[in-house]
Amino acid sequence: MLIGVLALQGAFREHQYSLEKCGVSIRQVRKPPELEGIEALVIPGGESTTMGKLLNSFSLMEPIINLAKQGMPILGTCAGLIMLAKCIRNSRQETLALMDIKVERNAFGRQVDSFETDLDIPVLGAEPFRAVFIRAPYIAEVSEGVDILARCDDKIVCARQGRFLVAAFHPELTDDLRMHRYFIENVVK
Ligand code: GLN
Repeated sequence: MLIGVLALQGAFREHQYSLEKCGVSIRQVRKPPELEGIEALVIPGGESTTMGKLLNSFSLMEPIINLAKQGMPILGTCAGLIMLAKCIRNSRQETLALMDIKVERNAFGRQVDSFETDLDIPVLGAEPFRAVFIRAPYIAEVSEGVDILARCDDKIVCARQGRFLVAAFHPELTDDLRMHRYFIENVVK
């Protein structure tokens, strides 16, 4: 299996290592031809306004949207989650607009820019998942067809809509490979 990792900016190397540990081949994607032949795409954390601008200037916005509409699975984490959302609260930044979710950016407040917590994510098994949040967004609203996979307090932080899987935290920054495995085994396959 060959999975592409969007490598314009942000934590793409960490995703690459996690995916490689799961036994899949990866390709860093910076140009449209590098999308050819990949079975799925990972969009990492980073800074979503910058990532949106880079997607446009590298002519990747359209081809990714087209492949996604043809069924290509996508895992988006943190800024990657923002890139998948159809609606961002109080912002008109450009996204791929693929998932029926409304997102609030930098939503955990200034005092808690970064934190770690144990999350209950039933689809990943009974063991809690150590989640690292860095200036994280949360999902404020979901439409029908979106499955909520985890909440942090009352905020939705992990969800799936068909072939799109998103997390507000950073599964690539811990040794726990369950989120990547779930993506490979249950979303891509
Ligand atoms: N705060 C960033 C944004 O809004 C996301 C942070 C992250 O990806 N760790 O784009």
